[in-house]
Amino acid sequence: MPELRELRTNFWLHEATVSGISVRGAVIIGERFSAVWDSLSHPTDVAALSDVLGEKPYYLVYSHADWDHCWGTAGLARQPLAVAAHFACRRRFDQELPEALNRVQMAEPGQWGAVRLVPPNLMFNTALTLDLGGLTLELHHLPGHTEDSIVGWIPQWGILLGGDAIETPLPVVNSASGIDDWLARLESWAARPDVWQTVSSHGAYDGREALERTVAYLRALSGDRDFVLPPALDSFYTEAHRKNLALVAGERDADAANTA
Ligand SMILES: [Zn+2]
Repeated sequence: MPELRELRTNFWLHEATVSGISVRGAVIIGERFSAVWDSLSHPTDVAALSDVLGEKPYYLVYSHADWDHCWGTAGLARQPLAVAAHFACRRRFDQELPEALNRVQMAEPGQWGAVRLVPPNLMFNTALTLDLGGLTLELHHLPGHTEDSIVGWIPQWGILLGGDAIETPLPVVNSASGIDDWLARLESWAARPDVWQTVSSHGAYDGREALERTVAYLRALSGDRDFVLPPALDSFYTEAHRKNLALVAGERDADAANTA
C-alpha cells in the first residue's frame, strides 16, 4: 500500500513498493501552487495524493525518466499545470520509454495496463525555479545516475530532494564517465551549510547523511579512498556495487588501451 507521511507542515513524502523496490516522492504545498516530486511507478501509487493536493494548481516534476519515478502520472486525479523535467528526460520519453512500457504491458497487462506516459512539457537545461508562493522549488541538473537526473532545492526549508543522485547504501552508476562531474556537483551541495535535510528516492533519509554517504561512496569509486559500506548489503545493492566496480574497471581498461 502506498504511504503518505507529513514530514513537516506543507511537506509530504509518498512512498510505494513495486516489484520489491521502494520509491519515495514528495509533495510541497505553497501558498499559490503545489508541486509533486515524481509520480512513482504505478497510477495506484499517487491516487491518495488528492487529499493533500486539494484544489490548488500544482506542478508535477520528474527527477528523471526511470520507470519507478514517472509511470504513476495517470493516477493523479487532476491535471498538473505543467510537467517539469530536464530536456534529456523529455528525449527519453520520446525515444526510450514507449518501447519499455510496451514491453512490460505485453508481458504483464494486468499489472501495467493502467500506466500512461505523460511526457514533460516544461523543460530546462541547467536550472529552473518554480515559485509556489512563499516557497520556491529550484530544479538543478545533476547528471550521473542518468543524464537527465535533477535535484530539487527548497531554500526556505533547507531541503534537498535528491532523486537517485543521492542514494544509500550506495548510488547506482550507469556510466563511469559521468562520476567525476556527479561527485563535484554533490560536493558543492555538501559544502553548503544551508542544506539541512536531503530526501532521496530510495534508501534512508536522515538529515544530510544520505548526501554525505553518497559523496563518500563516489569518492571511493573514483579511487580516492576506501569504501565504507554496511556489513550486510541486500542482494540488490550487492549487485549494484559489483556493477559499479565493473563499470569503473572497464573505463580504466579502456583508458589504458587508448594510451598504450
Ligand atoms: Zn529509482
